[in-house]
Amino acid sequence: MVEGRPRIVFVPYPAQGHITPMFHLAHAMHHQHGFEAILVNPNFIHNRLIASSSGATDDPDNHGVTYANIPDGLHDGESIDFFSISHAMENHMPCHLERLLKSFETVGGVSCVVVDLLASWAVGVAERCGIPVAGFWPAMLGTYRLISGVPGMICRGLIDKNGTPLQEGATNFIKGQPKLNPEELPWLIGSPSSRRSRFAFWLRTIDRCKSLRWLILNSFHGEETNTENPLSSPRIFHVGPLPTHSLTPTLWCKDSICIEWLDKQSPSSVVYVSFGSWVDPIGDDKVAELALGLEASGKPFLWVLSTAWRSGLPEGYLDRVKGRGMLVSWAPQRDVLGHGAVGCYLMHCGWNSTIEAVERGKRLLCYPVAGDQFLNCAYIVDVWKVGVRLGKLERGEVEEGVKRLMDGCCGDGEGGEMMWRVMALKEQMMGRCGRLGADAELNAFVDALAN
Ligand code: UDP
Repeated sequence: MVEGRPRIVFVPYPAQGHITPMFHLAHAMHHQHGFEAILVNPNFIHNRLIASSSGATDDPDNHGVTYANIPDGLHDGESIDFFSISHAMENHMPCHLERLLKSFETVGGVSCVVVDLLASWAVGVAERCGIPVAGFWPAMLGTYRLISGVPGMICRGLIDKNGTPLQEGATNFIKGQPKLNPEELPWLIGSPSSRRSRFAFWLRTIDRCKSLRWLILNSFHGEETNTENPLSSPRIFHVGPLPTHSLTPTLWCKDSICIEWLDKQSPSSVVYVSFGSWVDPIGDDKVAELALGLEASGKPFLWVLSTAWRSGLPEGYLDRVKGRGMLVSWAPQRDVLGHGAVGCYLMHCGWNSTIEAVERGKRLLCYPVAGDQFLNCAYIVDVWKVGVRLGKLERGEVEEGVKRLMDGCCGDGEGGEMMWRVMALKEQMMGRCGRLGADAELNAFVDALAN
């Protein structure tokens, strides 16, 4: 523990796509602003982080970010999903976080607790301890506007009190936002009772976060066509995209053999396929269609496919694509996307994966599955025009989509035009203006904390 430095405690939602940007924020607050940064995870995440880094040459100091773990009440072997995590967050973790925060009182205290909005249980804990709280939204402004617009949607009769859309235009109430289908609202996942629970989760989140003064977003200025922000409070800091360097702690061991395999492929020839870290199963029939579409495209491909999904592969498939197709369980994604052999990325439109791909100038084939992925997809395809949407994930559509993107690598055709646009978007995000803008926003947050 570093005595004498101001201290910030970071509380991510316990999933890879949330730990990653929170870690990068903590890293930036430590290295750029001198804070002691403490990242708090439940035991089940902490144990996985330790297991996946064992034997690696990672810095034991976690690159300046201290890890703290708190009990979660989960048992070994218990299946971990949205519902068991919600139960742990509501019932087990609050008293342990409170104890942890209080333990700092004799060593200088805590200047701020940064809470992922999906871990809103921690807002009340920090407030009870008398510590200033900042919210963190690990995604784009558009999805924040959608979620924070929920009470207004109920008032206007666009959705009912369980989140069910009542009118065709239910999702299209935010000016300047691309259109979504009613079934694409973020909480409409699974059975009717799952949808109700998820909607109740969002209502709780909105209620708990209405006292927040500050909100840090992993989005960048200009990500939307209409930058008008209808929200007067909290004050928003666009610190994104947070740098996505390979220091990120991961929950699974990376299969680095795939980089050696990529080294042997021609430039811009490979289709990289991944549906992120935690997506609802798309079903064996879809996996089979995707497999056959990749085979028919004739292109080499690198596919992150968990064991649980492999039952969908057609018989004899692995023998047929041997040498041309490589399957791994967990890839070093940022290195893969940065590799010159990768020509396009077939993805689920998770926000981290989206910015990692744009940052590395890759065009996208989109098959959103749930949550914020539909709105991210609408931005990729309809606003930024750097990708193609796959409707049903049928084999012919996959084959055609791959060809549309990859047959224009040299600057001409549809794929070539997308390549120019993705490079322009990358410049907007990562170029001098983008970086200076994000740094200035982080400075402004630090100033706000000091005053
Ligand atoms: N990821 C990875 N290796 C993989 C698959 C995913 O490192 O094989 C990382 C990826 O780089 C990204 C995160 O997992 O940072 C997934 O986050 P995202 O928001 O894209 O999707 P989610 O998993 O939250 O749905």
